[in-house]
Amino acid sequence: MARILVVEDEPSIALGLEDDLKLEGYQVEVVSDGETASRRAREGSFDLIILDLMLPQKGGFEVCRELRRAGLETPIIMLTAKTHEAEKVLGLELGADDYVTKPFSPLELRARVKAVLRRSQGELPEVYRFGDCEIDFHRFEVRRAGKPVKLTSLEFKLLTALVRNRGRVLNRDQLLDLVWGSDTFVTDRVVDTHITNLRKKIESGPDQPRYLVSIRGMGYRFDG
Ligand code: CA
Repeated sequence: MARILVVEDEPSIALGLEDDLKLEGYQVEVVSDGETASRRAREGSFDLIILDLMLPQKGGFEVCRELRRAGLETPIIMLTAKTHEAEKVLGLELGADDYVTKPFSPLELRARVKAVLRRSQGELPEVYRFGDCEIDFHRFEVRRAGKPVKLTSLEFKLLTALVRNRGRVLNRDQLLDLVWGSDTFVTDRVVDTHITNLRKKIESGPDQPRYLVSIRGMGYRFDG
């Protein structure tokens, strides 16, 4: 399930977007100013950001520029009320992936969201292989040397989150957010427990993990 950050200060539009995207099965978080958007975009590990241009505190262009400068690669769809060509060009130059002009139809926005997500998640194949393991995202199954490995649904989600962000360190808060959800009450020790269990299932040497690597003082990284 993709996670979408909606940045929109007009309550009616924000609510409409939220309802609509949730109905499509996405996880949605709404923020209404540029400052919060910039912060949440970096800490929340979203799959997509829908960013309005005219925002209190910090405009959409500035937020976009800031995020790209910080190295964030999350796709961004800009919402522009302006039909001015220069604005669209500027948005794309600043690193936005697409734009939708207000007023837009829910149908149009949904199509754009799907297209952008398909593009950005295309790098993860239906079956992802590493070592003697393969993750079948279609069947929610992990196989090792061809035989199914029993994973709990949390373990599967955790593994997926790490594989999706392979090569990147995710701290425990980010993992809790991604796997357990942002309003969870579990402690970050739970993450460690699940990582340990996962290692036993997919690593040949669980004590010296080759794929689910600990980065001291920071978190975990998937190398595969
Ligand atoms: Ca606005």
